[in-house]
Amino acid sequence: STRKESSAASDVYKRQGFMLPLLSFSHTENQLMRLAELDDLTQLLNRREFLKRANLTLLHSRHQQHSVVVLMIDLDHFKQINDKWGHAIGDLALKKVADLLKVGLRTSDLIGRLGGEEFAVLMPNTSAEQAALIGQRLCERIAHHAWEIEARPVKLTVSVGGSSSIGALRDLKELLADADNALYQAKADGRNRIVFGSQLS
Ligand code: GH3
Ligand code: MG
Ligand code: MG
Repeated sequence: STRKESSAASDVYKRQGFMLPLLSFSHTENQLMRLAELDDLTQLLNRREFLKRANLTLLHSRHQQHSVVVLMIDLDHFKQINDKWGHAIGDLALKKVADLLKVGLRTSDLIGRLGGEEFAVLMPNTSAEQAALIGQRLCERIAHHAWEIEARPVKLTVSVGGSSSIGALRDLKELLADADNALYQAKADGRNRIVFGSQLS
């Protein structure tokens, strides 16, 4: 079957040979673009790219009168993970959490690494109730993951703060600030949980 595929590929090569320089240029260009957009360690959107796309998505959602949700996700006691297992294992743990986020969220959700051990998610066309369920599932999936990194039994949980754009005109900065306050509350309440901005009084 590999042989079949490669002969099919060479047919395409022959038929579209004139296109190849263009295709390979755009491939390289694509790679360069991705380098500028993605975080090296996790391959999630980097902070700048996340903020850029989140702003666009928010504008679009407002236009469509859909509510969006922002989640801020921070690893719990991550300093202790580094202290106990070393920075390299810590890096692999961050990568694993990023992979679990990718698997646990929808392709329409934007996922970024805002910095350090903190991630943000923007979920278009999503209610606070839906997001709370998804966030809860994420916490559980990460906590119950069969954590083993290079044969070390690393244990990890995350705390999540959420905010929703529903109703009032709220910009990304405000949504992120609300989600950050909710995250702070999730930490104070004992970690490994999601708290929503609206639950704060
Ligand atoms: P909390 O539950 O309150 O969030 O506790 P914490 O230990 O996670 O929070 P704190 O802000 O005290 O520490 C964050 C740690 O994350 C410290 C820093 O060394 C580590 N860290 C940040 N970025 C990276 C990284 O890229 N790789 C590794 N291995 N560690 C990182
Ligand atoms: Mg932390
Ligand atoms: Mg942090």
